Amino acid sequence: MTDGGLTKVIIDRSGRDEPLCLYAYDLDALTDHVEKAVAQLPSRCRMFYAMKANSAVPVLRALAPLVAGFEAASGGELAKARAVDADLPLLLGGPAKTPQEIAAALRHRVTRFHAESVLELHRLSQAAVEAGATADVLLRVNLAGPFPSATLAMAGRPTQFGIDESILADAVGAATTLPGLRLTGFHLHSLSNNLSSEAHLDMLRLYRDKVLGWERRFGIRCEVLNVGGGIGINYADLAAQFDWTHFTRGLARLVEDFPPHWREIDFECGRFLVAACGSYAVEVLDVKRNHGVPYILVRGGNHHFRLPSSWQHSHPFTVLPIDTWRSATPRPELRDEPVTVVGELCTPKDVLARDVHVSRVRVGDVLVFSHAGAYGWEISHHDFLSHPHPEHVFVADGGERG
Ligand SMILES: *Cc1c(COP(=O)(O)O)cnc(C)c1O
Repeated sequence: MTDGGLTKVIIDRSGRDEPLCLYAYDLDALTDHVEKAVAQLPSRCRMFYAMKANSAVPVLRALAPLVAGFEAASGGELAKARAVDADLPLLLGGPAKTPQEIAAALRHRVTRFHAESVLELHRLSQAAVEAGATADVLLRVNLAGPFPSATLAMAGRPTQFGIDESILADAVGAATTLPGLRLTGFHLHSLSNNLSSEAHLDMLRLYRDKVLGWERRFGIRCEVLNVGGGIGINYADLAAQFDWTHFTRGLARLVEDFPPHWREIDFECGRFLVAACGSYAVEVLDVKRNHGVPYILVRGGNHHFRLPSSWQHSHPFTVLPIDTWRSATPRPELRDEPVTVVGELCTPKDVLARDVHVSRVRVGDVLVFSHAGAYGWEISHHDFLSHPHPEHVFVADGGERG
């Protein structure tokens, strides 16, 4: 968000009856970032958007013309995607798809299914046969370790995701013989919030070697390799982000050596695409000191913005000073010390940032948490304690959009 746009949104609203609390999304910044990121992808590589990061309709509308399609992980996401665009290519993932979701996906003309178990392959085949269709399917594999690089520690652990590599033969057998299916390739999504472009390239080399091995072992041809998302945002040091330019240059060299029948290398990124376009702005309601620790208490908290507590991090923010103070009450402030920012919930877990140095913050000022566009509102437990929801403001072309 350009500071001007966001500041205007906040200033326009300050001094109203209710303390300020809002999400603001800069759709111009979103468009600009995604256009540039997609333009750097080498040939054969395509960028899908993982809807779970943020499925607000204006965000989806802004993204639909820029990406290859959306990755949905529920019937609800499929319906949202189709409401925004009747023809956009859709991928369906998710670890526990219901037969109803599978049937809906066939009606919505999903391009590919990411299958996560052998039973799911059977369900998918049955639904496809009933619909008179053939479903293109990628097998989502949970890789077996050990891995050549320590940076891949997040792959190869027990999780509820994907098909264990040790039973891949069964899954390939089902996918190549069941009547409603066409085995199109593999899906590998093994990490989250990775900040190292080198580590990401190492991971893709591992994926290449794995898929080449499976092609030989099972006598199959992979046409589409989906390498998932997981490109990170450095919340602790906003100046040191994942080096997308370095990554895509390395990717171009890597992809040159992929067999020609791997016609498509799909990415399905969430966080990397939408995190930076969103800000969460909250008004300071009180400041206090407890057992020596200075606290800033805000209108809002982790019921709106659960990301910091879910990742156990201190989320970056800036203080927007609001000079107007119409109340007859005192206006306490904190100066030049490390503060802990907490929300309005009656739980000690409601912490947004901890031990962060501020030069000055007064009651009535506004804290602006940046990089709140991914896994912010979407993952939060909005109705815990029944406080009002924040306003959601979408800014584009210098103005607010409904
Ligand atoms: C969550 C998820 C993504 C997106 O992950 P990001 O870390 O936001 O890029 C992509 N694919 C699958 C299967 C996911 O579960």
